[in-house]
Amino acid sequence: MKKFLFAIVCIAIFLFPAKFIFAESQTVRIGLESQKDMVIKNKKIYIGIKDKFIDCPIETKTNFKINVIDSFDLKLGKIFSSYKDILQSKKELAKNNLKTMIYVANVDLFFLCTERTKTSILNQDDEIINANGKKMFCVDNGEDVILFDCDKFKIKTENDDLIEFGNRKYCGNLEFNYDADAKKIVAVNNLDFDRYLSCVLGTEMPFNWHKEALKSQAIVLRTYLTKKIKNKPHKNYDLCDCGHCQIYKGFDKNFGDLEKIIKETNDLYIYYGDDLIDAVFFSSSGGATENSENVWVNKVDYLRSKKNDLTLTEENKTWSHEFLSSQIKKMLAQKNIDIGNIIECKILENAPSGRVNKLLLIGSQGEKILAKEEIRSFFKLGNGQILESRMFDLETQNFLDENNELDCAIKIFGKGYGHGVGMSQFGAKFLAESGFKFDEIIKYYYSGVQIKSRRQKPAAFFFAIKIYDTYKNFF
Ligand SMILES: [Zn+2]
Repeated sequence: MKKFLFAIVCIAIFLFPAKFIFAESQTVRIGLESQKDMVIKNKKIYIGIKDKFIDCPIETKTNFKINVIDSFDLKLGKIFSSYKDILQSKKELAKNNLKTMIYVANVDLFFLCTERTKTSILNQDDEIINANGKKMFCVDNGEDVILFDCDKFKIKTENDDLIEFGNRKYCGNLEFNYDADAKKIVAVNNLDFDRYLSCVLGTEMPFNWHKEALKSQAIVLRTYLTKKIKNKPHKNYDLCDCGHCQIYKGFDKNFGDLEKIIKETNDLYIYYGDDLIDAVFFSSSGGATENSENVWVNKVDYLRSKKNDLTLTEENKTWSHEFLSSQIKKMLAQKNIDIGNIIECKILENAPSGRVNKLLLIGSQGEKILAKEEIRSFFKLGNGQILESRMFDLETQNFLDENNELDCAIKIFGKGYGHGVGMSQFGAKFLAESGFKFDEIIKYYYSGVQIKSRRQKPAAFFFAIKIYDTYKNFF
C-alpha cells in the first residue's frame, strides 16, 4: 500500500508539464513610436525575414540607415544563395564602376540588381520586377544598399548584445513595420516580458529606492501592463513606448539589479476576486489618494481614497503657479470659450481627500465651470506639462495694470503630482522605509485585493500534495 501511494504521488507531482509549475517566458512587442530616426549604431548586425536570419552579419564603418522606398522597378541579375558570395560579386562589379544593390528575396536567396533605367551587364536576360505601389525596405550601411520586399524584417546583434537604435539601447530584436496610414516606419522591439518589466521599472522608480517599494512597483506594473495588453491598444504591436501605453526608454546598465526584483516577484499579480485589477499608480499624493470616481467616471471598489502619513517630505512638497487673467482668457479661447475678462476664480467643490473637483472661472461676460481632471489639463505649464495635481488652494489677486485698469492674477498653491488614484510611488517608498513589506504596501493602496500567481497548478497536483501530506508518515 505504501509503495502504491508513494508511486501515485510521485507520478502526479513529477509528470505534470513544467509549464504548470514554472513560469513560461513570454515575449512582448513594443512599438517604438517615440523613435523618429531609423539609425542603428552597432557596427555589425544580423538581418532576418520573419524568424530566419541570414547566416553572416552585415557590417558598417558608420551607421545603418533604414528607410522605405516605393514605385521601384528593379532589374534582377545573378542569383546567389549566400550573402558572402553576393557581396564578393558586388565588389568585383564595383571595380568596373557598376553600382549594384542586393535584393533579399529570402534568407538564402539573393539577387544582384540595378534600377531599371540603368544599363545592366549582369545578365542578358535580366528579369524586371515591378515594385510599383509596393513598399520596399532598404538598409544602407554607407557602401551597400540591401533591399527587402517583405512587410516585416528583423534585426538582431551578435550574442544578443544590446541594439543601439537612435539614442537608446534595446534588448531582444527589432522588427520594422510600415504604417501605411501614418506613412512612416515604426520599429517594434521584441523582447522577453520580464526584461521589459525591469526596463520600465527602472524608468518609473529610481533603482536605488527601498527594495520593498521596488517590489510593489514591479507587481503593480506587471498587473497594469498585462491588463493593458489584453485590451489590445494597438493593431501591430502590444504596447507603444509613449505615455499612451507606458513610457519605455530601452535598457540602461543600472537596470541590472532590477531584474533580480522582477525575479523575486516572479509571476505575482494583483487580483480583485477573479479579475486582474486596473493597477493605476502615480507619483505623489500630497496627503491622500483619491476615489476613482472623483478622477474618472466609474466607482471602482479597490480604488478608494487612503490618507497617507504626511511625515514624508516628497508627499508634502509644495508648488505654486501664477496665471494672469489674460493668460486664462487665451486658454479659454483655445477651447472656443469667451467669458470676457477674467475677474475671479473660485473653488466650488472639494473631494473628501481635499482635491478640487469643481472650479469656477468668473468673467465680465459669463462663467465657466471646470471639473475633475479637466482642471489639470486646462492649466498648462509649458513643455506639454499640465498642472501637477488637484490638491491645491488658490487666491485671486487684483492689481492695476499699466493703463491703470483693474486686472487680476490667479495664484495656485498645491501639493502632490499625478492623478492620485491607486498607488503613490513616493508613498510606497515611505511605507517601505517604515518597515512595510511589498504585499502590505499593495494591499494598503488597493482595497480588498489578493496577490497571487497566475500559474495554474492542475487540481491533480494539489490532490497529490494532499495525499502526500495526509499519508506522509507512511512513506
Ligand atoms: Zn499606446
